[in-house]
Amino acid sequence: METQKSDIVQQDLDPPLGQDLSSIELVLETNAAEDQLFRKTEIPASDFKTISQGVQKFRELFFPESTDKQWNSWRWQIQNSYSNFKKLSEVLGFHDISDFDFLSKSRKLPLRITPYYASLLYGKPIEYALSKSVVPSKNELILSSGEENDPLHEDSMCPVENLVHRYPDRVLMLSTGFCSVYCRYCTRSHMVLKEKKHFGVKAWERSIDYIRNNPVVRDVIISGGDPLTLPDKHLEFLLSSLRAIPHVEIIRIGSKVPMVMPQRITNTLVKMLKKYHPLYMSIHVTHPDEITPEVEEACNRIADAGIVMGSQTVLLKDINDSVDTMKTLIHKLLKIRVKPYYLYQCDPIPGSLHFRTPVTKGLEIIQGLRGHTSGYAIPHYVIDAPGGGGKIPLLPEYYQGRDGDFVMLKNFEGKEFKYYDPTK
Ligand code: SF4
Repeated sequence: METQKSDIVQQDLDPPLGQDLSSIELVLETNAAEDQLFRKTEIPASDFKTISQGVQKFRELFFPESTDKQWNSWRWQIQNSYSNFKKLSEVLGFHDISDFDFLSKSRKLPLRITPYYASLLYGKPIEYALSKSVVPSKNELILSSGEENDPLHEDSMCPVENLVHRYPDRVLMLSTGFCSVYCRYCTRSHMVLKEKKHFGVKAWERSIDYIRNNPVVRDVIISGGDPLTLPDKHLEFLLSSLRAIPHVEIIRIGSKVPMVMPQRITNTLVKMLKKYHPLYMSIHVTHPDEITPEVEEACNRIADAGIVMGSQTVLLKDINDSVDTMKTLIHKLLKIRVKPYYLYQCDPIPGSLHFRTPVTKGLEIIQGLRGHTSGYAIPHYVIDAPGGGGKIPLLPEYYQGRDGDFVMLKNFEGKEFKYYDPTK
């Protein structure tokens, strides 16, 4: 029997944790109809105002009827995002692609690109770094050895659904399967592939209960999918529930939204977020071209709210795998008050070979940065060990071993040094 929406709403609005949720209009999703979440909502006025020149040009061409209020609304951005490959190809001028059918043969990693992010791709070839990271490619159909749906085996580390407890003192809470833009190399592609993208209060409640009952958990990372695609009230429900747990010391939000839909970072949002300090934000950044005036505005708002930001970047072949690109990226990040935090080796999800670089490439990049820019700018290069081993940091060979009472070291110029370090 088909489930009635009213039944589901009733079921999921049962007030968890003794809280009155009557004022929270939690919208439920039963399947891939996530668009409805946003379609049924009026576009409220947005306090986000920045529209840069190139973005404005794209808007005039493809959304000439849109008002400033609409363009600057994150809901409008989601409502009008491109989720049809043929349409996207026409807009971006990828006319050489004749087989629009190939997506249906693939594992169907969803396509979604906001109009704002599409404007960054406009007028560029299909080989352009940002295009390659979000536009589907036939290479996704090529499966290679070592690739897995869930390469980090996160599913096996979930004591309750959508809560990963891999490290002793922290957990990863997967709050939604929805993203405003889907990255083609997504580690959690197995999750964003799920039909039911909005997990709902019941699922969150189980995670929150687990955290409450496990005093070892002092650090909670809210991720997904992308938690900043949740409406303010939903997000506040999560944050306030977690903040009410005495042993939860810090809360982190993992998101790509500030880079792909900066309009989401409204003053109203940051005002709400700052109530739940200490709060950190890990921002998924791919390339220096993502750092536009809009992103600068968004990050300034987050920083002004006292939220410490760190970046997370996946090392991607022919996208950001050069010292120059990475150096430009980390310098731009520091200017918008984001500390370069992690550089990840790309995880072997199915069809990801065209994105992956040899590990030596990552080491070469770190070597090319260390000593050539401030240490504050240099991210940790890590491999998330297959099968759930956790993050393993990789460093070029600065430590060369021992020679009696001396440690043998090599500096960033390759010069060797002996450091006196007696063992007795
Ligand atoms: S934003 Fe994150 S979760 Fe969403 S598709 Fe990109 S990598 Fe995956």
